[in-house]
Amino acid sequence: MQFHQNSAEIFVPDGLSEEQALRRTTHMALAAHQDDLEIMAAGPILECFQQKDKWFTGVVLTDGRGSPRDDLYKNYSDEDMRIVRIKEQKKAAIVGEYAAQVLLDYPSKVVKDGSNPHPVEDILALLKVAQPQVVFTHNLADKHDTHVSTALRTIAAIRRLPENLRPKKLYGFEVWRDLDWMMDSDKVSFDLSKHESLQAALLGIFDSQICGGKRYDLATMGRRRANATYFESHGVDVTLGMSYAMDLTPLVMNPGKDVVAYVQDFISRFSQDVTGRLQKFS
Ligand SMILES: [Zn+2]
Repeated sequence: MQFHQNSAEIFVPDGLSEEQALRRTTHMALAAHQDDLEIMAAGPILECFQQKDKWFTGVVLTDGRGSPRDDLYKNYSDEDMRIVRIKEQKKAAIVGEYAAQVLLDYPSKVVKDGSNPHPVEDILALLKVAQPQVVFTHNLADKHDTHVSTALRTIAAIRRLPENLRPKKLYGFEVWRDLDWMMDSDKVSFDLSKHESLQAALLGIFDSQICGGKRYDLATMGRRRANATYFESHGVDVTLGMSYAMDLTPLVMNPGKDVVAYVQDFISRFSQDVTGRLQKFS
């Protein structure tokens, strides 16, 4: 496949041809940075792990050049960091047995530029070959600009697919800002009770980010446990780990639907819930 960035690549852990590897995809996740997939998309990664008929393909949009660095990596140049982060992402694809790992290698500013058509065109080309049944990206209430931009480019690409090629579901996962605030009826939850050590292994691969003093590995496993425990205030824990997603499917089933109004509806249901409880018990 030819992408807009000459340095973009498709890594296939088991050595199949790029096209064969992509065509077996059933679950595809698109994220801004190296490590976001492992933080947010453990649900589909585990669902596809060791399955003959389910395959996870990861897509990372940015090049990792602007990554924070410390410790062992303190004096690394932007290009050194790019190489380290690509290497880490490929290691994760091997450990998680992904169908393919796509690295689109864009500078963040290109992904954030809504007038640049290239990221959407690359995603569209990938979707046409892979034809995933389910697609995952960042949720639209995330507080990281590149995450939200990645979600918007993903939605734009799916909207351009012919109706019969569109995935059946599109979900937005939590990274920078969790989705605990959403009404329980709005939450799509993914049970992460199993393969805890594999989840930890996937998160631990990203040493260059963890070394910067950010324990994303511990924080992410902790969030999954907290989600499971705090989901129900009455009754015992039914899962040991859980992640939440915002259902974005209506935005691609109906390409005319307004993205801002759609997200505002989730926020206003939360707002009404808080206000209603305060009024009831005042
Ligand atoms: Zn990120």
